Amino acid sequence: MDKVCAIFGGSRGIGRAVAQLMARKGYRLAIIARNLEGAKAAAGALGGDHLAFSCDVAKEHDVQNTFEEMEKHLGRVNFLVNAAGINRDSLLVRTKTEDMVSQLHTNLLGSMLTCKAAMRAMIQQQGGSIVNVGSIVGLKGNSGQSVYSASKGGLVGFSRALAKEVARKKIRVNVVAPGFVHTDMTKDLKEEHLKKKIPLGRFGETIEVAHAVVFLLESPYVTGHVLVVDGGLQLIL
Ligand code: NDP
Repeated sequence: MDKVCAIFGGSRGIGRAVAQLMARKGYRLAIIARNLEGAKAAAGALGGDHLAFSCDVAKEHDVQNTFEEMEKHLGRVNFLVNAAGINRDSLLVRTKTEDMVSQLHTNLLGSMLTCKAAMRAMIQQQGGSIVNVGSIVGLKGNSGQSVYSASKGGLVGFSRALAKEVARKKIRVNVVAPGFVHTDMTKDLKEEHLKKKIPLGRFGETIEVAHAVVFLLESPYVTGHVLVVDGGLQLIL
């Protein structure tokens, strides 16, 4: 079977590091983000025969079209990584409804839509592997991130339920839950202050999360698992 992997959110940050690792392992990749130029730049930098697609994961027709295009140009997708995500951190009383909706749509509904779209080909092939990128705050909660935490907590429930639903079809679904990682998403945080709380004393790097994602993608006897990659933050939250 060809190793074709769709990486939503593959143009930057954690998704991009996953793409770099998987390209080195011989996968054929689809790099997907809203900004096509960003996705093209990331795919081009990998060398080889990888393709870029523009898609907003929160839009069902975008997701469906992207899966049709991927199948046409790359063949059936048998590996899926959901790393597209946004945060709009604020106390709940100050959070606008539109920011609640955009976080839930991108972080939770988006992964539901891509998993659903991936199912047909994975069921036909009798196999597939999915990793959804959650967050430690989805397990522990964090003040100022109630909606983001809900989106990531929901992703865990969704992934574990789907893992049960499709295990007989030899499709696996797992979650990686990172702590603070150096990406665009965390560039405005007060790192000096926050890192004092982390048992390992530093933010993580994207490649450190990428190794966990690829481990779960390739572990044939692991499904419904949540792998925390957070420098020990969960120990003190
Ligand atoms: P970045 O902001 O660095 O990258 C986000 C990626 O997602 C980009 O490729 C972006 O491309 C894409 N994206 C965002 N919204 C959409 C959308 N609606 N449709 C398609 N693609 C989209 O984020 P990170 O790498 O930091 O985060 C990756 C994942 O890890 C996210 O789910 C995040 O919640 C999670 N995470 C991150 C942590 C961290 O500390 N960085 C900690 C815990 C979890 P474009 O803008 O072009 O669409």
